[in-house]
Amino acid sequence: MTKKQKQLKVIIVTGGVLSGLGKGIAAASIGHLLSSKLKVVPMKLDGYLNVDPGTMNPIEHGEVFVLDDGGEVDMDFGHYERYLGVTCKFEQNLTMGKVYNEVREKERRGDYLGRTVQYVPHVVDLIKSKFYDVSKKEEADILIIELGGTVGDIETELYIEACRQLKKDLGEENVLYVHLTYVPIPAGVNEQKSKPTQQSVKLLRERGIQPDIIIGRCPEFLDEKIKEKIATFCDVEKEAVISGVDVDNVYKIPIIFEKEGICEIIHKKLNIYSPPNLRKWSKLLDNLDSPDGEITIAICGKYTKLADSYASINEALMHCSAHFKRKINLKFIETTEIEENKKTVSELLKGVAGVIVPGGFGTRGTEGKISVIKYCREKGLPFLGICLGLQLAVTEFARHVCGLKDANSTEINSKTPEPVVDIMPEQIQIQNKGGTMRLGAYKAILTKGTLAHTLYGSTEAWERHRHRYEVNPDYHDCLRDNGLVLSGMSEDGILVEFIELKDHHYFIATQSHPELKSKLETPAPLFYGLIDAAVKYFG
Ligand code: GLN
Repeated sequence: MTKKQKQLKVIIVTGGVLSGLGKGIAAASIGHLLSSKLKVVPMKLDGYLNVDPGTMNPIEHGEVFVLDDGGEVDMDFGHYERYLGVTCKFEQNLTMGKVYNEVREKERRGDYLGRTVQYVPHVVDLIKSKFYDVSKKEEADILIIELGGTVGDIETELYIEACRQLKKDLGEENVLYVHLTYVPIPAGVNEQKSKPTQQSVKLLRERGIQPDIIIGRCPEFLDEKIKEKIATFCDVEKEAVISGVDVDNVYKIPIIFEKEGICEIIHKKLNIYSPPNLRKWSKLLDNLDSPDGEITIAICGKYTKLADSYASINEALMHCSAHFKRKINLKFIETTEIEENKKTVSELLKGVAGVIVPGGFGTRGTEGKISVIKYCREKGLPFLGICLGLQLAVTEFARHVCGLKDANSTEINSKTPEPVVDIMPEQIQIQNKGGTMRLGAYKAILTKGTLAHTLYGSTEAWERHRHRYEVNPDYHDCLRDNGLVLSGMSEDGILVEFIELKDHHYFIATQSHPELKSKLETPAPLFYGLIDAAVKYFG
């Protein structure tokens, strides 16, 4: 590592026993607790050979999170950005796909000077160089590294080795290992059990890592007896055994960790001081626990079976829920049911106070979504369209207001005579699927006096994008002349970024994904507006 003025401290979060225990939340929560005075920079290490998750099926892997710089990354980055209030970069998500690509490039270039290229030192050194590069570029005080997968997985062995070596590279006092494990309470036994923790710590130690802190995920707070047992068998202080209790809302985890004393342990071990500031955070969470009423918001989609595929939308709504002190019930609507005449739109939207048509790809369910949008437009039901949602709102408007009855997106019907939504010219030649969409944050110029302008409180909005199709510029005039407000345009005036309707309670759509930047303390403006209207008119 190059010499730096300040000493880098690294916290490594590993997981044991099984996946899905909430390592991302644990890492983000620790980061949140330390970030009052220190610059905390997260990294996530994924073992898979895909370069990024951009081409993976959201049903299997959850939502693809998009960063300002256009990086398509693991959805844990959503937690990091929301809990830490930071903007992450693509290089903070390391995948084995990226690592091997780079090693191969270096080998072909001759960088290894005739040596045999080996996992250790070459691949492991490359992984470590990524830690140091990110820390330096981001001027990190603390680097939090979340190791994907579970200790013992073949695909994470090289990452573990890299993390083990950090202690020697940086000095014992600058590296802290946190291990998240599972403490079950088997039915019939009704007792917290430590054996899985003991075994997974054993696996970790076989790889040369002794945890400093153990977080036991458990349906209940860990009792004194189990803490003692884990401390004895796993060689940690009893105070360093922390309850990772099941919660109804994961935003409570930083508060729980703090109460369990994790900050003192980390401060002591790393010789740092950055007292947590949880006041505003706790107050907003209290609002969630004591709502003044409830409303139902419908989400119409294709991946509605897996809530994770719309994780950031759920988050953005939860942020609004805390601000409006309203419980928001989500109703997922599978719009194919409308197409198959199983249910009517008015049946499906009964009792619903607002509708979101989120992003999506492909044809299935789109006609049903268009029927829902038509209903919202005609009945004054608050509507928010996101990405594909904007494209379908434009299609609906073109068909039923502009009278272009065959209007469509060429993504849905490549032969449509009225291609109101079309692929961007620069996208046509592209053969590769990975990382080739219009990705990342772009500036939109908002027209003064529009709803978009009011909601953002600015004539500029920077939101993140992930799409190939756009409103066709040949139709801008026709749409405008018929009353659609193109309230936000790209800087060059060619691409439609926001549309809205006048004389409607709330009808707005954007080509971007505003949900990706929503935070508990600052909900995304378009979601805030949706809930505001839903409460006002249908609450
Ligand atoms: N499928 C559409 C496109 O590629 C919309 C994508 C999205 O909703 N993210 O343009």
